[in-house]
Amino acid sequence: MGKFDKATLDGRLKKISKYNVKIYNWAKTSYNTSELYFEPESEDDIKKIIELAKRNKKNIRAIGMVHSPSDLPFSDGYIISMNKLNRVIKVDLEKKTVTVEAGIKITQLNEELSKHGLALSNLCSISDLTIGGVISTATHGTGVNFGCLSTQIKCLTLLTDSHGKMNCSETMNSDVFKAALCNLGALGIITQVTIQCETAYLLEANQIPAKLNYILDNLDAIVHSAEHVRFWWFPHTDDCITWKANRSNKRPLPQKLSYIHDTLFGFHLHQLVLYLSRFRSSTVPKINQLIFSFKFSKPIHFIDDSYKVFCFDCLFSQYVNEWAIPIEKAKYAIKDLKRWIETNEISAHCPVEIRFVDQDDIWLSPAYGRKVCYIGIIMYRPYFQPVPYRKYWAGYESIMRSYDGRPHWAKAHTMFRSELEKVYPKFQSFIELQKQLDPTGLFLNPYLRRHLFGENVDVKNPKAKL
Ligand SMILES: Cc1cc2nc3c(=O)[nH]c(=O)nc-3n(C[C@H](O)[C@H](O)[C@H](O)COP(=O)(O)OP(=O)(O)OC[C@H]3O[C@@H](n4cnc5c(N)ncnc54)[C@H](O)[C@@H]3O)c2cc1C
Repeated sequence: MGKFDKATLDGRLKKISKYNVKIYNWAKTSYNTSELYFEPESEDDIKKIIELAKRNKKNIRAIGMVHSPSDLPFSDGYIISMNKLNRVIKVDLEKKTVTVEAGIKITQLNEELSKHGLALSNLCSISDLTIGGVISTATHGTGVNFGCLSTQIKCLTLLTDSHGKMNCSETMNSDVFKAALCNLGALGIITQVTIQCETAYLLEANQIPAKLNYILDNLDAIVHSAEHVRFWWFPHTDDCITWKANRSNKRPLPQKLSYIHDTLFGFHLHQLVLYLSRFRSSTVPKINQLIFSFKFSKPIHFIDDSYKVFCFDCLFSQYVNEWAIPIEKAKYAIKDLKRWIETNEISAHCPVEIRFVDQDDIWLSPAYGRKVCYIGIIMYRPYFQPVPYRKYWAGYESIMRSYDGRPHWAKAHTMFRSELEKVYPKFQSFIELQKQLDPTGLFLNPYLRRHLFGENVDVKNPKAKL
């Protein structure tokens, strides 16, 4: 990319911009070089960037931590990193709400809330994400009576092209609110959010080994047996772990990690065997057995601050795909997936992660109008082999489609407009609103043009191609 002439920018924009910045996603499965990269510190900065982009006919993309495992956060035009918009604006102890800038990381938010005796009601697997990124993709945790994280938002501020600054909530610009709670960066830039929290709490977690058939035969009871339930299945085996967590008044009993068990073997040996499997993928089933026996065959019990219990280390960079299907179909879809993996001799890395999320009324949320079971598959990045990988992904997606699945937006998936409009009742409303708020397509990028508008475009992004 040619050198951009910064002399054409005004003093403030010059100060907060860089050019030719290469950004990678967490798993390093995609990267992108934008023409200009901004680190604004205020809403006024963002307004100036929007004006500049309009004048120069460039696209804009707000980014958080760029953790989305796809080209969703990328743009060939201007990138706005939200990382410096990370302040806590107001804590209301009576209402148990907090108002923050959208670039705040979940880690920082957890710590700030803890100082005030508050906590989020549910969390996703890791906390190195921004609240803006989490909301924009309907990021979820687990708990059959807990919605995705966007459902905890009371109101938000959106900077749009056509309507300027919009404050949105259930009662103010309510349509925009329902669309913005899973906006994919397509409507404008979220600058502030107010989040409903609860009094800080401890979670008691129990992780126990179990057999897949037992879980599937008792799925409904297991899913409702604790506030937060997930399970991991180790493909090519019948082994699973169930993880359950409940709010607790007991004394804290933090998890004890050992260097030998958790780091030396649990990380380095695990990595070594994955590396060796690269040369013979037929060893993956044995590796899954080994990982289960060594790391997961014994029960684990601990009690700690909620946010320390919800999150865990995702270990190695990975390709992921995750779809949400109606909860009552979960049992059949998981059985089909197992049968399909075995019949087709797919070397499927462990674990397949299964989580449960309450229904909501957010227009593009995969849980719109139905309680869902998310089924997520992974393939560790440095160790995968392209051909089985493609076959695995295609087979998995075809099973998810046959059970009315909706893909997680942040993850690389192959559902496009003609299918999306069938599975999302509010898809057309979202598109119409997008056109109203962003008539010139300022906030569109290749991912959105491809998936939402059916255009055949790709980000300049060689690493994403397999
Ligand atoms: C290790 C790992 C674990 C994960 N665990 C989970 C999980 O448990 N559950 C789950 O559901 N997902 C999970 N994800 C996916 C992740 O939650 C989403 O990809 C999330 O969007 C990442 O947040 P981010 O801050 O990195 O956003 P980015 O990836 O930077 O951005 C995501 C999207 O949000 C838009 N955006 C960001 N900020 C704003 C803003 N202020 N205004 C408007 N648009 C904005 C971007 O334009 C982009 O479209 C995980 C991902 C990784 C890598």
